[in-house]
Amino acid sequence: GDVTGAKELTDGIHLVVDALKLNEVEAIYGVVGIPITDLARLAQASGIRFVGFRHESAAGHAAAAAGFLTRKPGICLTVSAPGFLNGLVALANATVNCFPMVQISGSSERHLVDLQRGDYEEMDQLAAARQFAKAAYRVHRAEDIGRGVARAIRTAVSGRPGGVYLDIPAAVLGEVIDADLGAASLWRVVDPAPRQVPESAALDRAIDLLANAERPLVVLGKGAAYAQADEQIRQFVELTGVPYLPMSMAKGLLPDDHPQSVASTRSLALRRADVVMLVGARLNWLLGHGDAPQWNPDVKFIQVDIASSELDSNQPIAAPLLGDVGSVMQALIDRTKPGQISVPAPWRDELAARSAENVGKMAKRLAAAESAHPMKFLGALQAIRDVLRENPQAYVVNEGANALDLARNTIGMRVPRHRLDSGTWGVMGIGLGFAIAAAVESGEPVVAIEGDSAFGFSGMELETICRYGLPIVTVVLNNSGVYRGDAAASPSGDPAPTALQARHDVMIAAFGGRGYRATTPEEVASALREALALGKPALIDCVIDPADGTESGNIAHLNPKGITVTR
Ligand code: ADP
Repeated sequence: GDVTGAKELTDGIHLVVDALKLNEVEAIYGVVGIPITDLARLAQASGIRFVGFRHESAAGHAAAAAGFLTRKPGICLTVSAPGFLNGLVALANATVNCFPMVQISGSSERHLVDLQRGDYEEMDQLAAARQFAKAAYRVHRAEDIGRGVARAIRTAVSGRPGGVYLDIPAAVLGEVIDADLGAASLWRVVDPAPRQVPESAALDRAIDLLANAERPLVVLGKGAAYAQADEQIRQFVELTGVPYLPMSMAKGLLPDDHPQSVASTRSLALRRADVVMLVGARLNWLLGHGDAPQWNPDVKFIQVDIASSELDSNQPIAAPLLGDVGSVMQALIDRTKPGQISVPAPWRDELAARSAENVGKMAKRLAAAESAHPMKFLGALQAIRDVLRENPQAYVVNEGANALDLARNTIGMRVPRHRLDSGTWGVMGIGLGFAIAAAVESGEPVVAIEGDSAFGFSGMELETICRYGLPIVTVVLNNSGVYRGDAAASPSGDPAPTALQARHDVMIAAFGGRGYRATTPEEVASALREALALGKPALIDCVIDPADGTESGNIAHLNPKGITVTR
């Protein structure tokens, strides 16, 4: 090389950072180590926020949540082999949930890995990633870094969003090339997720079905939330008066106390509706695959989705609307004549009557829980609900079994995209990663409502939260067990497989955060109020009756039934 400096040089690390900056990446979530530590340093020095985690899967979940919240791929940075595999869990989860994300991973020397000569952290990461991601790419030359980044971003956000893997071997990160050539090799992705509108015949087919329905229903899914088409969705729902059911992460698209919400009469709505319009929601297990008897066997489906392969995946789709939610809903608003779609009074009355009944039953359960001692899930959750009502801008992250089922039903949302949860897989471990992304991306307070078991999967990220001083209050609903904490020890003296024990409030104190222990709903409320007012990292360990909680929550039927069941 020319040491006089006559010729300017760059390297792979600089090119990755430059390519990300050119594409307006503002944050990277990751864990440093060989060969990407300098990449993280340079990113931070050049103005990208680097959030350093304790475990790659939490970093990956954070990147995925950032993607969901911003419609820009969240970036996760991992080291080779084990770090890569830890992150891959999140990349797969992002893909299943249709969240745009790019996992960039360093990898070991190709000439050693491919001959299996036994390199440091040797693994064929590209092959491993392929089956778990929307796409997987590897860059072999520094001059291809810009191409690789552009391709990863485009693939992650366009069409159905998902996780993309980008493999950059250590040798490429260290490769030195001419700076002008390097700069010329980068580009910015234009219109990363182009609008897609269905033709008018398809729109009319859907409008016709709704206009002739006796018992129409709209189901809003997290694809609708992701689309950031809140105004079009509200307009269409209110213009037509059709009752709607929000899936858990679509809660808040319209405020949960909206008069057209049938969240409180979900099973009747599904069983009786004769025309159902799915908007960014899949007929997967969460909706019983659209099968009878949970659904009316004669139901006709309209489906708004960006992915053609989703249509007819479970049930015949009478009126497919292939396109992005924003464009499709706007087109439906534009093409629906005034008064063309209305809701027959008997259907409205039937839903309202059942809703009043269900709300009454729930009120009784809530009242009973309010005064119960030891504290019940519903006792703690009512207190959380009341404080969150005072803080509608707060994000809610939620995972667990009972902690998920009961919080989803108890805690209403009033703002779009403010609820993040276990999602399509019903997975545990997303909690603190999702919470960190919500805080970093929005600057707003976050309340992570965690079952004690779910919390454990990402609990060490309390240190990350404290290190970055994020306004996250982690609320652990601690009934001392997976599902529940009252199972007897084994004859050998070992704790039951479902048993847990922890003082989580003491744990956060080790990292400099504030810990609270709450044994009554009043203590939960005052701790949460105080923690939110402080705007600092805090954890409230809610001591819940170990006998409260059911095995697997609402999805106990998914446990295989053999001949021996000793519980
Ligand atoms: P939920 O779990 O809330 O029911 P799903 O994740 O099952 O939601 O479904 C989301 C659906 O939304 C996916 O089928 C996905 O293809 C679709 N989708 C994602 N983004 C868009 C968009 N911008 N426009 C239309 N459909 C979208």
